[in-house]
Amino acid sequence: MIDREKLILVNHISNTHQEESGGLRAVMIDTAVLGCGWTGILLSNKYAKFSSVLCIDGAEKLGGLLRTEVVDGFTIDVGGSHVIFSRDRGVLDKMLNFLSGNVVEHERKSYVQLNGVFIPYPFENGLYVLPPEERAEALASLIEALLSLDKSWMPKNLEEWIYGFFGSYIAKRYLIPYNRKIWKRPLDEIDVDWVYTPGRLPIPNWRDVVRSAIGIPTQGYLEQAKFYYPLKGGIQALYSAVYERVANEGVALVKNNRVESIKITLDGFLINEKIRAKRILNTIPLPSLIESLSGSIYDDLKQYVRDFDYNSLITVAVALDKSAPPHHWIYVPNEDVIFHRYSWLNNYSVYNTPSGKSLILAEITIPPSKSVDIASISEKTVLDLERLGVVEGEDVIFVKAWMYEYAYPIHRIGLNSVRKYVLDYLLKKVGIASLGRWGSWRYMNTDAIVREVERLNYKHIGE
Ligand SMILES: Cc1cc2nc3c(=O)[nH]c(=O)nc-3n(C[C@H](O)[C@H](O)[C@H](O)COP(=O)(O)OP(=O)(O)OC[C@H]3O[C@@H](n4cnc5c(N)ncnc54)[C@H](O)[C@@H]3O)c2cc1C
Repeated sequence: MIDREKLILVNHISNTHQEESGGLRAVMIDTAVLGCGWTGILLSNKYAKFSSVLCIDGAEKLGGLLRTEVVDGFTIDVGGSHVIFSRDRGVLDKMLNFLSGNVVEHERKSYVQLNGVFIPYPFENGLYVLPPEERAEALASLIEALLSLDKSWMPKNLEEWIYGFFGSYIAKRYLIPYNRKIWKRPLDEIDVDWVYTPGRLPIPNWRDVVRSAIGIPTQGYLEQAKFYYPLKGGIQALYSAVYERVANEGVALVKNNRVESIKITLDGFLINEKIRAKRILNTIPLPSLIESLSGSIYDDLKQYVRDFDYNSLITVAVALDKSAPPHHWIYVPNEDVIFHRYSWLNNYSVYNTPSGKSLILAEITIPPSKSVDIASISEKTVLDLERLGVVEGEDVIFVKAWMYEYAYPIHRIGLNSVRKYVLDYLLKKVGIASLGRWGSWRYMNTDAIVREVERLNYKHIGE
């Protein structure tokens, strides 16, 4: 537990983050957690049990990608559509327990919307809704792909994996255009390690795909076929439930304090010239962490900063004065539609909108170098929703957009070895453990982060 005197000082730090370091140097925190998103809050929760903890975040509002805002009675998950699921029952139970009953269970109703047809997701299991000629083509190309696979074959990149495992029909109609849209990079430059990550894009069950292709309804991606969501408070309720525990343990959470410099001292670290800590656990993006390390001895690390590629995200909320179809989220592979996915957040919880109204959240990825005009992206989003027949202009109550600089880490070919080198260097030579979606630069969902934080061994760091 952090003592009272330290808490007062921490409040002082948060209120005066521009001031000189002067008298603040006397405070030594046991554990500084950099970044207070889902990974940071879970780490704070874990380490508060046996050390004084300070969690530092650069944003004005805490929550990271799990942030929710309420606008005129509409509850909007501004970091994109988030639901709770896991194939690991223990981890799922742990997340649901955080919510202490503030939870609702759903049967997934998600689709791929392709030229006016809603194909149940995942696409390969939803083929049964297509006309017989299309199903036959899907099955024939799948068999062709299977026949040419030899057991030792390993796809070298995402494009090869898609064609090799799904055949050319599913690839060309859905997976290639959809993945181009979300990644905005040539798919032969993207690694395949993340598609094998449990919980993401599983390799289809061939028997089910064949059944679906001959017209029998089947259900794939079973661990997500049922999902959970907070009854009240949007997805941030999950974050807030842990936040409250952490605050009760006496952890100080400092917002509006970007980590900009880290110096190694005789007894630990000096952060932003103000905060002294014996141990650092990092969850902020690796390039930001590396850039903040002072001293030319880290030049070796700095050369890798550009290897950590990512996409930003714009979310556009469209509040509507009409009821919604019984859909959760819809994938849109068409290249002439600006968003890759839209979700009906009113169907996640009835408390997300006033009664009789509905709420769409559309998601658009942006590569980091691209300039962004949020107003025209919002306008195009509404136009495309109209073109798809989802929205009529007169139903729109308001449109509001948000941008996240860091949304999707990109597993470029070669990232694995760079990541391993950088994480080993940070842990062994600098004494910083780095975790989470940005701290380990992996396509991780909330459940994978729960597991990663649980597994982190305290003794590995500076002890
Ligand atoms: C569109 C989208 C949909 C998703 N859907 C799901 C889903 O349905 N289910 C699911 O389980 N997971 C989902 N995820 C994944 C989930 O959002 C992440 O696993 C999780 O939120 C990552 O938490 P994090 O703390 O690692 O990162 P973040 O939430 O990004 O937190 C990082 C924190 O670091 C802070 N920070 C950054 N730079 C600095 C700095 N220099 N100094 C100080 N602070 C800094 C930021 O302000 C932020 O608070 C989704 C992700 C996206 C993008």
